[in-house]
Amino acid sequence: MSERVITRLAPAKINLTLHVTGQRDDGYHLLDSLVCFADFGDTISVTRAKQNRLEIVGPMAQGVPTDETNLVARAAYFIAPDKPFHIVLDKHLPAAAGIGGGSSDAATTLIAIAELLDIPVPTGSEVLGADVPVCLHHSAVRMQGVGEVITQVPPLPDVHGVLINPGVSVATPTIFKALAYKNNPQMGAVGTFKNVTELANWLATQRNDLQNPAIAQNPIIGDVLAALNGALFAAMSGSGATCFGLFASASDAVDAADELTKQHPNWWVQPCQFR
Ligand code: C5P
Repeated sequence: MSERVITRLAPAKINLTLHVTGQRDDGYHLLDSLVCFADFGDTISVTRAKQNRLEIVGPMAQGVPTDETNLVARAAYFIAPDKPFHIVLDKHLPAAAGIGGGSSDAATTLIAIAELLDIPVPTGSEVLGADVPVCLHHSAVRMQGVGEVITQVPPLPDVHGVLINPGVSVATPTIFKALAYKNNPQMGAVGTFKNVTELANWLATQRNDLQNPAIAQNPIIGDVLAALNGALFAAMSGSGATCFGLFASASDAVDAADELTKQHPNWWVQPCQFR
C-alpha cells in the first residue's frame, strides 16, 4: 500500500459578479458569473488506506458531517468508487457562506485523488454540485449555464481583498426562490484589467442579482457591505452571506481586516489575494 500523501488547497471561491439570466424547466437557474479564487481556504490531504476514513480538523470543523454525505466523501466515491482513502479535511472556510466551501473541497478532492492515482479528473462533476466544475479551476474564469459552461478570461491583475462573513448561514435555494426576476441581462464582456482600480470600476457596472434578496432575508449582509465602505469595491459572493471588498494593496487589505475585526469581533474576517 502506497503511503504517498497529496495535500492541496481548496480555495475560497468568490463570485465577483453573479448575473441570473434565466431558469431551466428543472428549476436550476442560468448564471453568468466572473469567478475567482482566494489564496486562502481549506486543505485536503489524501492517502490510500485499507478502509475509508474522513477526518475533519481545523477552526471551522464543528458541525461538518464526517459521514458519506460529506461532499469530500462523495467526490472520492465519484472518482474512485472501488478504492478506500484516508482523507483529512482541514476546515478554515465557513459553511453555507457563498464562497464554495463544500464545492471547493469536492473539487480539490477530485484533483488530489487524480494526482495520487495518476488518472484524469473525470468530467461530469456537476452531479456533486453546480459549483464543483468551476472550483476545479483555481484562477479567474467566466461561469455560465447552470455552472458547467466555463471559459477562460484574461488573468486578473494583482488583487487583494477582504472576505467577511457575519456568522449567518444562508440556504442557497431560499435566496434563488426569493428572486423576483429571473431573466436579467447577462454580464458584460470581461476584458483585460490593468490594475485593481480598473477591475473595481468595471465591477461597479455589473451585478450580483442574489444580493438584494439575500439582504432582504438577512439584513446583516447590508451591515457587512456598509462596513466595507472603505474598499475600492464591495459586493456579496454567491448567495451570501460572505461579502468581499477589494483594496489597492496587500497592506491596505490587512489594515482594513484588522480594523474590521476590532469593530466586529464576532465576524469572520480574512484578508487574502484573489486570482
Ligand atoms: O448544485 P448545488 O447543490 O450546489 O445547488 C444548491 C441549490 O442552489 C440548488 O438546489 C438550487 O436550488 C440552487 N441553484 C440554482 N441554480 C444554479 C445553481 C444552484 O437554482 N445554477
